[in-house]
Amino acid sequence: MTARITILGAGPGGYVAAIRAAQLGAEVTLIERDNIGGVCLNWGCIPTKTIKTTTDLMAGLNKASELGLEIEGRATVNLDRLMRRKKEVIEAQTTGILKLLKSYKVRYLRGHGHVLDAQRVRVEPATGGPLEIVSDKLILATGSRPLALKAFPFDGRRILSSSDALNLQKIPASICIVGGGVIGCEFAFIFAGLGSRVVVVEALARLLPLPGIDQECSKVLEREMKKRRIQFLVNRVVEKAEIMEDRARVTIAASPFADEPKVKNAPPLLEEVETVLVSIGRDSNARGLGLEALGLEMDDRGWIAADARMETNIPGVYAIGDALGPAKVMLAHVASAEGLTAAENALGAGREMNYDVIPSAVFTTPEVGCVGLTEELARARGRDVRSEILHFRGLGKAQVLGEIAGHVKIVADRKSGRLVGVHIIGPHATDLIAEGTLAVRMGATLEDLASTIHAHPTLPEALMEVAHKALGAPIHSARETAGEAGRGH
Ligand code: FAD
Repeated sequence: MTARITILGAGPGGYVAAIRAAQLGAEVTLIERDNIGGVCLNWGCIPTKTIKTTTDLMAGLNKASELGLEIEGRATVNLDRLMRRKKEVIEAQTTGILKLLKSYKVRYLRGHGHVLDAQRVRVEPATGGPLEIVSDKLILATGSRPLALKAFPFDGRRILSSSDALNLQKIPASICIVGGGVIGCEFAFIFAGLGSRVVVVEALARLLPLPGIDQECSKVLEREMKKRRIQFLVNRVVEKAEIMEDRARVTIAASPFADEPKVKNAPPLLEEVETVLVSIGRDSNARGLGLEALGLEMDDRGWIAADARMETNIPGVYAIGDALGPAKVMLAHVASAEGLTAAENALGAGREMNYDVIPSAVFTTPEVGCVGLTEELARARGRDVRSEILHFRGLGKAQVLGEIAGHVKIVADRKSGRLVGVHIIGPHATDLIAEGTLAVRMGATLEDLASTIHAHPTLPEALMEVAHKALGAPIHSARETAGEAGRGH
C-alpha cells in the first residue's frame, strides 16, 4: 500500500520534505496556514536579500566616480518600487514551488492544522468546513516567529518585528535595533543603506556573538560599521522604550552579562528614534497545536525534541527546521536538509543528520561566511589546530572590485593538515564559503587546497593562497613580510 505522509508547515523544511517524500512514492499532504515558502521566502532570506541588493547597488552607484563613472546627482530609493520588486521576487518563487508540488502530485491544503493524534490532523481552511487528514507518518515543520519583548511588545508602528521591517511604508529617519545577531546586523546595513540613522544594541561583548562565528569576523564587521557611521553598543541592553506620537525614547542600560566595571557602572543612555526593531531571537509556533496532548517532547519554550533521524519521542512523528529551536541550527538550508532526512526516514531509510559541516551566511557589508570549527571551539574540544589568515587587500580580484576589506581564515589540524574550519569576511563571502564547506566536508588538507588550481583573477584564489601561506610558502607575500598581507597579483 502507498505510504501516506502529512506535513504541517510549508517553509523550506516542509515543502522540501514533501517533494522528497513524493519522489519516493508517498501520497503526500502538505498543510500551510499562510504563504507557501514560510519565513524564508516571505519574511526572511529572500526579502532581506532583495532589499540588500538594492542598497548595495545604491552604495556602488554613489561611489561610481572612484571607478571612473560620472553620474549626475545621487541615487535615491523609490520605496514603492523596491517593495513591489520584493513582492515580484517572492511571487516568482511561490509560483515555482506551487508548480513543483503540482508536478509531484503533492496535495497542498491552505489552512490551519491541528494535530489530533499521530495519524490524524484536522485542517481548518480559510474557506469551507474543516477536513480530517489521515496518514501513516507525520512531519512537523511549523517553524518559528519573531520573539517579542514583554517590556515593549510589537505594535507594527514604533516597535517592529523583522516581518514588519520588511513591509516598510516609509524609511525611518532613525532606528534602534535591539539585538546584534545575524538578523540585527543584516538589518543594520539595510537601514543604513536606505539612509536611516542606525543604533544597534547587543547584550553580549561583540556583534554576531555566535559560537560558530570567528571573533575576528566580528572585529572587522564592527570596524566596517563604524566606517558607515552605524552606531553600535555592545554589553548593553534596551531596558525600556517609551512610545511617543512620532518617536520612541529608548533607555539603554548595562547588560546583565557585562563584566567590565566601566560598562557595569555606567549610567543608562537615552536615545530618541523614529522606530525600534526588536531582533532578539525566535519563538516557537508549535504550542497549542495539539502536540502537548499527544505527549510530544518539547521544552518549556515550545521547541520540539528530535533525534538525529529527525524522529520525535512519538514513533512515526518527525520534526524539522526552526521548530527544533536554537539547540539545532535555525537556517533555511538546515531545515531543508532535515526535511530530506525526515522524509527518507519516514519511508524506511536510516539516515542521520550531520550538523558538523553547516555553512552560515551573513549578508552584511562585507559579507560573512563560516563553516566548521573556530579556533576557540576546536581548542575547547581538545583539538590541536593552527590557523592562517589572508587579507583580501592582497588579492587582485578584490582590488579590481574595489572591495578590499576582510580576510579568509582557515583552521587546520596541526598534524594532518586537514581543514576543520573556514571563516571568511569580505566580498562575496557567502558564495565563497561553498568551497570551504566542500573542503571541510571532504576532509581536504591544506595541501589539497593549495594544489587545486584556481581560476585567475577570482576571489576563491584567496582560499588557495591562504593554504599556500599556511604551508609556509605564500606566493604573494614578500619573503620578509611572509605572515603579513600579500602584495597582490
Ligand atoms: P518556517 O520558514 O518558519 O515555515 C514554517 C511554516 O509553517 C510557516 O509558513 C507557518 O505559517 C506554517 N505553520 C506553522 N504552524 C502551522 C499550522 N498549525 N498549520 C499550518 N501551517 C503552519 N536563513 C538562511 O539560511 N539564510 C538567510 O539568509 C536567512 N535570513 C533570514 C532573515 C530573516 C529576517 C529571518 C527572520 C530569518 C532568516 N533565515 C535565514 C532563517 C530562515 O528563514 C529559517 O531558518 C527558515 O525559514 C526555517 O524554515 P522552516 O521550514 O523550519 O520554518
